[in-house]
Amino acid sequence: MKKYFNDIFQSVWTVLLGMRITWKHLFTRACTMQYPDQKWVLPERSRMRLFNKIEDCIGCGQCVRACPVDCIYMTTEKRTKEEAPAFASDGTPIKLRVTQFDIDMSLCCYCNLCTYPCPTHCLVMTPEYEFAVYSKQDFLYRFAKDQPLAPPKPAHHAPAPEPAK
Ligand code: SF4
Ligand code: SF4
Repeated sequence: MKKYFNDIFQSVWTVLLGMRITWKHLFTRACTMQYPDQKWVLPERSRMRLFNKIEDCIGCGQCVRACPVDCIYMTTEKRTKEEAPAFASDGTPIKLRVTQFDIDMSLCCYCNLCTYPCPTHCLVMTPEYEFAVYSKQDFLYRFAKDQPLAPPKPAHHAPAPEPAK
């Protein structure tokens, strides 16, 4: 008889012990974030999606050279004397026309090394982190607005992959 009650006690006690964590969390505040209705407040200087304010880009190529994974593809050509002088918003003269400035964000490792040498601070990391896409090709961000006047020459950058048809 003693063993019978002892077994009952052991069974109940084991269940209670196993439920210890559950009981504990039953009375603590829930910390589940209801994404996307709730979002993390990101720390200052978080490294997320890159953006180039192309109007201020002087085509110096320093970002291209700084990129450790070669995921910035740029082509430029000299502005002709006939063209009106152009300046970045900080007053830096723009002597080159940027005819291609692509960043393949699927290759980017978010190191931020490209933004430091940018003389006009036009290339920046934004706090935008929700940019998932269905196609890998959509990670190729094209910033250039100028069309080339001359046929493109081979340069120190890798060619941009062709967009999906
Ligand atoms: S953040 Fe790093 S990997 Fe990404 S484009 Fe800039 S230099 Fe390249
Ligand atoms: S470093 Fe800045 S200004 Fe120079 S090519 Fe890159 S984005 Fe343009």
